[in-house]
This record gives sequence, structure tokens and C-alpha cells, in this order.
Amino acid sequence: MRGERVVIAGGGILGLATAYRLKQRWPDCSVTLLEKEGALATHQTGRNSGVLHSGIYYRPGSLKALNCREGKRQMEAFCEAEGVPYEICGKVIVATEEAQLPMLQEIYERGRANGVGCSILEPDALRRLEPAAAGIRAIHVPETGIVDYRRVCLVLGERLAAQGVDLRVGEAIVGLRAVGREQVAATADGEFVADHFINCAGLHCDRLARMGGHPPDARIVPFRGEYFLLAPKARHLCRNLIYPVPDLEFPFLGVHFTRRIDGTIECGPNAVLAFAREGYRKTDFSLKDTLETFGYVGARRLFREHLRMGLGELHRSISKRAFVKALRRLVPGVREDQLEPATAGIRAQAVAPSGKLVDDFLITRRPGQIHVLNAPSPAATSAFNIGRTVAALVGEARS
Ligand SMILES: Cc1cc2nc3c(=O)[nH]c(=O)nc-3n(C[C@H](O)[C@H](O)[C@H](O)COP(=O)(O)OP(=O)(O)OC[C@H]3O[C@@H](n4cnc5c(N)ncnc54)[C@H](O)[C@@H]3O)c2cc1C
Repeated sequence: MRGERVVIAGGGILGLATAYRLKQRWPDCSVTLLEKEGALATHQTGRNSGVLHSGIYYRPGSLKALNCREGKRQMEAFCEAEGVPYEICGKVIVATEEAQLPMLQEIYERGRANGVGCSILEPDALRRLEPAAAGIRAIHVPETGIVDYRRVCLVLGERLAAQGVDLRVGEAIVGLRAVGREQVAATADGEFVADHFINCAGLHCDRLARMGGHPPDARIVPFRGEYFLLAPKARHLCRNLIYPVPDLEFPFLGVHFTRRIDGTIECGPNAVLAFAREGYRKTDFSLKDTLETFGYVGARRLFREHLRMGLGELHRSISKRAFVKALRRLVPGVREDQLEPATAGIRAQAVAPSGKLVDDFLITRRPGQIHVLNAPSPAATSAFNIGRTVAALVGEARS
């Protein structure tokens, strides 16, 4: 890899962690990272819940399970070494009705199979940890933590710049082509020539893969997650992290309560179709993005199959009362007047042509190109290990 040139698309946590692992493994390689926005971590990474996930939910042996467990350790080590605040505060996953108990048990067993330290709590024990939570049984996961991923990215950016990585913000890649064995990425400012091109473009990763001549089977469908913040006087309702029992068929975890590292408590997110890939307000609309979503057979199949669930999420988006009703299942004492609107995030979720949500992380290798095509939660937790995996793929491509 000595002297090899790598261009990375995307200044979110995956692009940055990949650059970090590449420079660690091959200090002599030349890395350029191109980010279209004027700052790092502007999209998914800067708008997420800030949870260091334990890995409890994921199918044993899946890329999510493996990368989350390993990535969490690496993220903690990085934060420790660099003085980035993080906290291992623990989390409870709460069943509020009998019908959820089999799923709660399945999550517990998955956690054990993944090596996650966790235990079952009966109601008294649950209320000792989270006095305001309702529940008939819960899982306690002491090793779940919280961190500010944007802050991690800013520190990463400083380290990379010091190591000679050419970090360029405000450089949108508008073209990508192979010329012989070289990859040429074009921006408004010129062309960047590389031996390896790595696509970590999040909400636009499928478009970049298409630009590079490798249209992926699965396409990104953007799902907005809206949040509220608990008013300061209501923060006593949640000590740490209170989550519902999710439907393991879906990669979304249901509305929950999350204490953030800055002490605020976030409630949400729901999951509604976004009519713009970067449309953070309910009224944001992009004709191009919407036509692309509805023109895709996989998205149409998904909406047909899960119409009822989608309408429920939409209802919670339009009606604060409905949102609060979902929150009150977990914490009955929360009231509508204690919730203040907060920011939203958009998940880049790949959907297969069959209409199935791609459950696991998806990384593909093409000659001279590596594309990260599905990296939803827990990809922030997993970032350093995904970066290590991508760096290894670059090494293999060379040998
Ligand atoms: C609401 C929400 C909550 C979440 N909560 C958690 C959590 O608690 N814990 C966790 O582990 N994960 C969580 N996630 C998932 C996590 O945030 C993402 O998996 C992770 O941030 C993905 O990182 P990324 O670098 O791939 O994407 P991004 O952060 O979206 O970065 C991609 C970057 O590529 C840039 N880009 C796109 N196109 C181009 C182009 N043409 N040229 C140049 N640059 C381009 C974008 O501007 C962007 O900065 C959450 C996600 C959301 C949306």
C-alpha cells in the first residue's frame, strides 16, 4: 500500500473511521476525504441518538452483531485515549404487555449468544433502576453507553489532518469513472485520481455506486426519525435509557427515552418515509428524491406490505398526542406539555427489490471501488471495526 492513493466519499463517522484505520495500517498511503457539506458529521452521524449499542438485538453471527461488539470496544478505547466524554450508563428494554414476553426472551437469548452481559428484571428490580418506567418484565443491559458521535468525528478530523489526510469539506462528488486501473472522482473544483475509491456517502451511497458504474440491487429509502426533548423539570422521569420491545423483523427500535451525554433526555424517534433524503422538516420535499423512491419497485412493495405500520408512524408524526401515547406505555407519568420539539434524523435504509428491508450491514467490492451500501444503526457504534474491515478489503484488492 506504500504510496497508494485512496479517495473516500463522506465525512460521516464511517468515512472518517475508515481513513483512520487506513492510515494506522499503512501510514504511507495518501488519503483524500471528500465531504459535500461545509462541515463533518452533518447528516446521520450528527443527528443520531448517541447510543453506544451493546449488540443485544442482532442475529448472532451477523455483521451487525460482530461489528457492534468489536466496534464498541474500539470506540470506547478511542474516547478514552482522546479524552472524548462517554458514559456506560446501562439500558432497560421493557415489556409492557404479556404478548411481548416471547420477543423479550428472544432478545435476551440473542444478547447472551452475542456475549452481551444482560439480566432479566422483574417489576420491582426494574423500578429500582428506573422508578418512572412501567413494565411487567425487562432486560437490563449494564454495558450500553452514550457518547456524542459528532464530537468523536471532530476529534477524528483533527487526528487525520495531523496525519496528513487531505480532508476537504464543501466538495461534492458529482462524477466517478474508471480510467484503466485508476478511479477518477470529479467535484466542482476538479478531479481526484485514486487507486481505490471508498463510498461512505450514507443517504447517497446507492447514487454514488451507480455513478461509479455499479448500480446496487438494493436502494436507499430514507426514513425520518423525529424526536422530542423532555423539559428540564421532567428529566427525573428517565435516569438512563428506557426502550420498548422492538419487532425484530424491523431494524427500528420503537420510540424510547435516551439520556444524552449533555444531560438532555430525548424521546423518539418514530420512523416515517422522508420525501427528501435530507429533509429534516416535515414539510421538506424533493421531487427528484420522491420520484426515485416511488419509482423503485422495492419501495412500492415495502409500502404495500406494511401500509398499516406506516400509517401508524405517520399518525405519530402528525399528532403529538399519539406520539405521547406511545411514550406513555413505557413511562406513564410523561405528559404532552413536558415535551419540547427537537431535531430529526434521517436513516439511510437499503431496501431490496423484493420490498424487504436489508437487515444487515452491506459492503460490496468492485474493481478499484468499495461501497458501503447499508450502514444503519448500530453503524456509529461499529464504525471503527467497519473501518478496519474496509481497510482490509483495500489491502486484499491490492495483493
Ligand atoms: C435518527 C437516528 C438515530 C440513530 N441512533 C444511533 C445510535 O444511537 N447509535 C448508533 O450506533 N447508530 C445510530 N444511528 C445510525 C448511525 O447514525 C449511522 O449508522 C451512521 O451515522 C452512519 O454513518 P455514515 O458515515 O455512513 O453516514 P453519514 O453520517 O450520513 O455520512 C455520510 C456523509 O456522506 C456525505 N456525502 C453524501 N454524498 C456525497 C457526495 N456526493 N460527495 C461528498 N460527500 C457526500 C454526506 O454529506 C454525509 O456527511 C442512528 C441513525 C439515525 C438516523
